[in-house]
Amino acid sequence: MDYRPELVGGHVALDLVNTVAWRLDDRRRVDRLADPGNLRKWLTATGLKPSDRGVRTATYDALVRCRETAYAVLQPLAIGAEPSSADLAVLGELVEEAVRKASLVSIRPLIWRADSIADRVRLSVWRLFEDEDLSRLRQCDDDDCGWLFLDRSKNGSRRWCSSADCGNRARARRHYQRRQTGALA
Ligand SMILES: [Zn+2]
Repeated sequence: MDYRPELVGGHVALDLVNTVAWRLDDRRRVDRLADPGNLRKWLTATGLKPSDRGVRTATYDALVRCRETAYAVLQPLAIGAEPSSADLAVLGELVEEAVRKASLVSIRPLIWRADSIADRVRLSVWRLFEDEDLSRLRQCDDDDCGWLFLDRSKNGSRRWCSSADCGNRARARRHYQRRQTGALA
C-alpha cells in the first residue's frame, strides 16, 4: 500500500513516535519505517533528510531505538502517569549522546546542527521536552491507535490524532450503536 506520512503529532518527535500504527493492538501493530521506501518518505516529509537517497540500516536501527525510548517516556505523560526512572535514564543517555556531537549554530533562535539523521532526530526529541508544554500531550482516544499529539486547541478539547481518521471511525461507531439501540427500542 502506498504510504503517505501523516504528520499530526504537532512536533517531529511525536511524528516519529507515531510511525507505529495501531500501537495498542498486538495483532494489527505495524512499524511504518521498517520498509526502506517508507523510511525515506518519512524523512523527506519531516525535512530531516532533503534528498531521496538511500538510508543505511544503522539509521533505521538508531531511529527505532530513539522512537521507542521517547515513547516509553511520553506515553505515561500523555495519560497523566509518571514515566519510570529507568526509562528516563535511557532517554537521558540518548540525548547526551546527541548533544555531545552537535554544534551550536545560533543562540537566538537556538539552533543546533547534527551531521547524522539519527542525531538530528535525537536532538528533536530533546527539543520537544525543552520547548513544549507537555501538559498538552495527549494520546488518541481510539482504543487501538495509540498515537500521541500536542493538543494546541484553545480549549484543550482535541481527542483524536486525526478527526478524519480515528475521529470519523468513532462517530460512525456511535451512529451505528444509536441505530442498533433505536431498532431494539
Ligand atoms: Zn488515532
